[in-house]
Amino acid sequence: MAESWLIDTHCHLNLGQYSEDYPQILNDALENNVAVIMPGCDLESSKMAVEIASAYVGKPVWAAVGQHPTDTAEMWDEHAYRELAQSRRVVAIGEIGLDYFHVPNEETACAEMISHQKEVLKAQLDLAHEVNKPVIIHCRDSHDDLTDMLLHQYGIWAGDRERGVIHCFTGSANDAKSYIDLGFLISFTGIITFTDQYNEIIQNVPLGKLMIETDAPFLTPVPHRGKKNHPRYVEYVAKKIAEIKGVSEEEVADVTRVNAERLFGIKVK
Ligand SMILES: [Zn+2]
Repeated sequence: MAESWLIDTHCHLNLGQYSEDYPQILNDALENNVAVIMPGCDLESSKMAVEIASAYVGKPVWAAVGQHPTDTAEMWDEHAYRELAQSRRVVAIGEIGLDYFHVPNEETACAEMISHQKEVLKAQLDLAHEVNKPVIIHCRDSHDDLTDMLLHQYGIWAGDRERGVIHCFTGSANDAKSYIDLGFLISFTGIITFTDQYNEIIQNVPLGKLMIETDAPFLTPVPHRGKKNHPRYVEYVAKKIAEIKGVSEEEVADVTRVNAERLFGIKVK
């Protein structure tokens, strides 16, 4: 594995959990041939992602900026995000999306939150279009509405154009197919190391449409579950995909890296 670079396409070294140790963790990842993309969840973590990536110019460390759907306490600051989005270290708008798992029980409050999420998502899809960058999408229990919004935004047939990635994919085989038809890639986390629920989807989605990630500090893969997550552990996600698809780990590393390079317009080496 040591020769092939992996890309952890989604880790949050820009969050408070790493404020003390992100330089060591990042250097350790790079020494072990793991490149990283750090998405923002709010304005502060988006700024931090750009700051870290800007300190690593010339290294395979990139940022994405965006407002997470559950981050509803913060007003959407179009101006601030537009400015950040133009940074050369920013390779995508994300993470953005819809999350109906973390909504209030009360009906009116729930409806209000959903309409707020849709409004902020639409603004960010428009921003991505404006700056011509792909999107990193978070989706939980909201695949039908998300597919509708993406269809409306991008049209039915994507052709060769890739629009973005559905990160930490937890949908059905049908959802995966709809997203791929719309020009999206599908990304898996360490979840696949502790459940076999997604094995069939992984078998059926072509490797050319897959990416891998840790979503650190969350979702630490087996055999490190219960410990702090680390971009290096993306190798366990690659290993599991290789096992399921019956190909070598090196092939998974190479193809998922090339997929990320193509989507985000970057070059690891
Ligand atoms: Zn995330």
